[in-house]
Amino acid sequence: MPADPVPALLARATEALEAQFSMLPPFERALAGATDTRRMADVLQVVAERLGDNYPYFHPLYAGQMLKPPHPVARAAYALAMTLNPNNHALDGGRASSAMEIEAVAEIARMFGWAEAHLGHLTSSGTLANLEALWVAGQLAPGRRIVGSEQAHYTHQRISGVLKLEFTAVAADRCGRMDMDALEAQLRKGDVGTVVATLGTTAIGAVDPLDQILGLQQRYGFRVHVDAAYGGYFRLIADLLDEPARRAYLAMERADSIVIDPHKHGLQPYGCGCVLFRDPTVGRFYKHDSPYTYFTSGELHLGEISLECSRAGAAAVALWATQRLLPLVSGGEFAAGLQCSRAAALELDRRLRGDARFEALAAGRPELDIVVWKLAADDAPQSSARAHGTFEASALRDLHLALVQLPLNWFISGVGRVGKPEDRATCLRSVLMKPEHESWLDAIWDKLIASCAASEGE
Ligand SMILES: *Cc1c(COP(=O)(O)O)cnc(C)c1O
Repeated sequence: MPADPVPALLARATEALEAQFSMLPPFERALAGATDTRRMADVLQVVAERLGDNYPYFHPLYAGQMLKPPHPVARAAYALAMTLNPNNHALDGGRASSAMEIEAVAEIARMFGWAEAHLGHLTSSGTLANLEALWVAGQLAPGRRIVGSEQAHYTHQRISGVLKLEFTAVAADRCGRMDMDALEAQLRKGDVGTVVATLGTTAIGAVDPLDQILGLQQRYGFRVHVDAAYGGYFRLIADLLDEPARRAYLAMERADSIVIDPHKHGLQPYGCGCVLFRDPTVGRFYKHDSPYTYFTSGELHLGEISLECSRAGAAAVALWATQRLLPLVSGGEFAAGLQCSRAAALELDRRLRGDARFEALAAGRPELDIVVWKLAADDAPQSSARAHGTFEASALRDLHLALVQLPLNWFISGVGRVGKPEDRATCLRSVLMKPEHESWLDAIWDKLIASCAASEGE
């Protein structure tokens, strides 16, 4: 592991924070065990050993699921805020961290082109952020259906159930994008209230054609919610993406609501999601009159525009610090990190296409930084078995990949097959989220080849 800068950063910043409260009389902590550093150290020793039972998410050879280590400045800022543990529900609970949340969220809104008006806040996750967006959508169009692609995150269907709104999944095409004919067939029925467009699907990073969906909006009149929990930050490098993804990203400012997860690509610890509304007047739906919340000023309390009550002020502090260090601008250092991830994905895809042992997606190269591939075999069960074998053999070589079920007709050997749900194979998947993945691609490739050979030799 590279040297961790967080302990030294935190020690200095903790002194600076303590100085802010030096006027207060000293006191001893009465909490049991709180001064017994030897006993606490013993416990932490066991905690460290227990935490060893994890995949090494921080290492470039972890190239499996959507896990990206938080930036050291985010970890330090989060831990520093823990001295106070502010609650961003109300200004009484977290004055500074609420102000930081408003600033950080405004910067995210600006990234999407909402420089002036918007309403938004952090949430504990993308799921909660999507829940709020669909809740507002349901308030605006009660009883009307929510429509998303079959590749949309499973949470939309479940959330719709919680909100008692009907959800319809429309077909995805062989690129994993929402099929526009299938969408229009639903819209013609006249009862669709909201279309969920996913920019960066969880399985393969596909980008729904948001610009085309917005084109249909004029004809059929519905709300457009963009789930960019995974892919939102790629707005910063939209001009470097292939068409039609580029056009979809450039259309984001015309959406009605957007969800993005700073705890995915935004270098934040869990839980940090974010929901944004283009029309700030939707804040009226959140109105509550709680006798428990003591409002000390006429200023906005974030709890007035959030479904969650207590929220981690530390999450806002960490995000604010990260954006201060790495502003969300095209051509900036943060954007450069996304470019590395994308370059790594394109290079892995290029190698897979040149190797007869593997099959890449027939539709073309990855749209973001997620690569999926099938193992060449005579039939689907054999291909799936090879994917499992390679997955396990690579883990033994410290290369951690992921598995995903994909329709066979997304691959060249499956062209012409009818896309029955059971017509699927287990494939390998790699989410190349870390900027280090680009320079580690040779090592990743060598281990993949060795794992593939080893699993076949069994
Ligand atoms: C991860 C993800 C979600 C869910 O977000 P959580 O933060 O895990 O709750 C929703 N939609 C998409 C597209 C995602 O990738």
